[in-house]
Amino acid sequence: MTDHYSSDLHQFSVRQLGEGLATKQFSSVELTQHYLQRIAALDPQLNSYVTVTGELALAQAQAADQARGAGHAGALSGIPLAHKDIFCTQGIKTTAGSRMLGDPKNPFIAPYNATVVQKCLDAGLVTLGKVNMDEFAMGSTNEKSFFGATKNPWDTNRVPGGSSGGSAAAVAADLAPFATGTDTGGSIRQPAAFCGLTGIKPTYGRVSRFGMIAYASSFDQAGPMARSAEDCAYLLNVMAGHDAKDSTSVDLPAEDYVAQLTQVDDLNQPLKGLRIGLPKQYFDSPALDPEVKACIEDSLKQLESQGAILVSIDLNTADYVISTYYLLAPAEASSNLSRYDGVRYGYRCENPTDLTDLYQRSRSEGFGDEVQRRILIGTYALSAGYYDAYYVKAQKVRRLIQQDFLKAFSQVDVIAGPTTPETAGIISIKLDPVLEYLSDLFTVGANLAGLPAISVPVGLDEKNLPVGLQLIGNYWSEGQLLSIAHHYQQQTNWHLQRPPVAKQSLTQENV
Ligand code: GLN
Repeated sequence: MTDHYSSDLHQFSVRQLGEGLATKQFSSVELTQHYLQRIAALDPQLNSYVTVTGELALAQAQAADQARGAGHAGALSGIPLAHKDIFCTQGIKTTAGSRMLGDPKNPFIAPYNATVVQKCLDAGLVTLGKVNMDEFAMGSTNEKSFFGATKNPWDTNRVPGGSSGGSAAAVAADLAPFATGTDTGGSIRQPAAFCGLTGIKPTYGRVSRFGMIAYASSFDQAGPMARSAEDCAYLLNVMAGHDAKDSTSVDLPAEDYVAQLTQVDDLNQPLKGLRIGLPKQYFDSPALDPEVKACIEDSLKQLESQGAILVSIDLNTADYVISTYYLLAPAEASSNLSRYDGVRYGYRCENPTDLTDLYQRSRSEGFGDEVQRRILIGTYALSAGYYDAYYVKAQKVRRLIQQDFLKAFSQVDVIAGPTTPETAGIISIKLDPVLEYLSDLFTVGANLAGLPAISVPVGLDEKNLPVGLQLIGNYWSEGQLLSIAHHYQQQTNWHLQRPPVAKQSLTQENV
């Protein structure tokens, strides 16, 4: 195969890619070249990649081909992926979307790989590069990146969501078959919804946080973003598992999420008896756009036709999730980000006059406005006079929110609703930070409770922008969530719709 740019390898599912590599229809080098050509031709419209590791990718692809030739390649060996630029990659710069780590004069180059990155390498996956994100994962639009906004492939005047917006835009435009993301308050699910992808935030503790740059440690969790639930299941199989280097990672036996996709009693009614709870507080929310609501309701009918039972439920704490999250996450962030002091690594200001000046200017020049805002809020909430009134109180509300979810799970198997109140907005239109925070209304609850949650594409609004259905499950129910999404995707083709950028043909001029 020589005509890489004209082939349709980027439309293959992960399973098809694995089969094609196993049967030698194409090599990993050919597949990797194909993706690198698409990135070179199309990413200038999107700005989804911060770093493209072309040479390294081709070397890894060659190694994967050799391993396959020698008969010891795994199922995913030789398939490319992109990593959110929050995961430490040995020898490759890791920026977290910040000048603090990504200053062009002195970028941070980690001396080790994050566990997630290492597991992907061990599985033979090929690293295409590192993708853009809101600075330190704080944001819902990707506009907060030091490297500039990423554009939504469905409409390049619009945001792809955030903070894993680079992962979402890259996968949606077929510039990577799948990508890693992280989700502290919705950063996998919200960009997945805005870009028409499937993305799952696993239960807190399911995936190791070692080497993942910390934002709010008791919320942060990594997960896969891909076109389908099946593709997500393949990547989650690689990412999940206990890691002694992360004391919050759980020592549970590994699960095979791909095998679980199709484990059902009745193939005609794969969701038979599944009780899906619909929180009144989500569906009656004044923030919910009517077009989004209509798509969600259609998708629920589809699930019902496959045997699910829809049950109206209450989540009485739903109104408190934003204020609780936006107090606790900045509190943790203010502590985590204190390590960036201009001394050990990261950005250091020029010609400091003394140590205080070094700290102050390095942090003022190295961090963007939103990160500084959150450090200030978090420091305030943790300060001696306000700790009990704000931080401790928010921790108590967090517990009530978790109990509210657990009460719901005594009535239903999963909870369903919209992932986001609206579809993707226009770039730089939301100037008020609180308005942006409110867009996390339906996603932060799962993080506060540590529960797994998935976003599944279920329609397009009148502006031709994707709508995401969110399913929240009980602890360790990733397999069940992926399986429900998979059965939905067996009957519908929303996950197969491609955005205009992905459909552009690569000509000799733009490759
Ligand atoms: N938008 C949320 C925030 O800004 C969530 C971000 C995330 O999940 N990393 O905190």
